[in-house]
Amino acid sequence: MNIYGTHPLPGLPDAVTICEVGPRDGLQNESTPVPTEVKIEFIDRLADAGHSVIEATSLVHPRWVPQLADAEEVLRRLDRRPGVRYPVLVPNERGLRRALDLGVTDIAVFAATTESFAKANLNRTVAESLDMFAPVVVQARAAGMSVRGYLSMCWGDPWEGAVPISQVVNVATRLLSMGCTELSLGDTIGVATPGRVVALLEALTAAGIPIASIAVHFHDTYGQGLANTLAALQNGVTTVDTSAGGLGGCPYAKSATGNLATEPLLWQLEGLGIHTGVDRTKLIATSTWLAEQMTR
Ligand code: MG
Repeated sequence: MNIYGTHPLPGLPDAVTICEVGPRDGLQNESTPVPTEVKIEFIDRLADAGHSVIEATSLVHPRWVPQLADAEEVLRRLDRRPGVRYPVLVPNERGLRRALDLGVTDIAVFAATTESFAKANLNRTVAESLDMFAPVVVQARAAGMSVRGYLSMCWGDPWEGAVPISQVVNVATRLLSMGCTELSLGDTIGVATPGRVVALLEALTAAGIPIASIAVHFHDTYGQGLANTLAALQNGVTTVDTSAGGLGGCPYAKSATGNLATEPLLWQLEGLGIHTGVDRTKLIATSTWLAEQMTR
């Protein structure tokens, strides 16, 4: 709690789940290499701070994500706490088998909403990438895993500009129908504004997608992350992706700054009297500690 007090606003949830993406999305997009020991301690400190969802790493081939080449070691050595979920990005069926061998219970797949990004990030068409993910999602669900489906470039794409809402709705519908348990709407280059956030959420719910299955993932390129989040919360979203200290960016969108930082979101939610379970002071200490590790 902060010393300045709280005052709620109508139409907001009592509690918000923060999905802390620093160890995966954050570190993946930082040029400074981080030793395995530091990654494991980082994840541990995030759990200490009260995070209940910590995206731990990615089982994408190290050729594409050299920063996370030690994913298997991180997962082997991770001290998994009861009540904390540690989702892992899985690109294909081979990645899923590795995840199962490593005791992973929560995975994420990374879908594109535009042909340009699908080509750049996955070297496939949007349809081909969804066909690739379908058996991964089906098998993961059969194994009792939860599966988060990321949708990238939901509000804009550096090659194609504005992304038609119908395109996002189509990919979201497909991911949900193949069995995804959660959809994370990514503003990968940080161009969304609150009205456009609400318009997409309304279109998704009109298409039958439960608002409870939707998370938002904003980047702060134009400083809209908190405003966009508040708009999403006012429209029923209760899961927000952020990274400690705003770690990360996007390698395919050079101008994009990092993820919305967890700390200012915590400040806002505390001031509104919304519960997150995360201790802001401990989180700030964690971000400071990590920054020291990264400049060494
Ligand atoms: Mg991100």
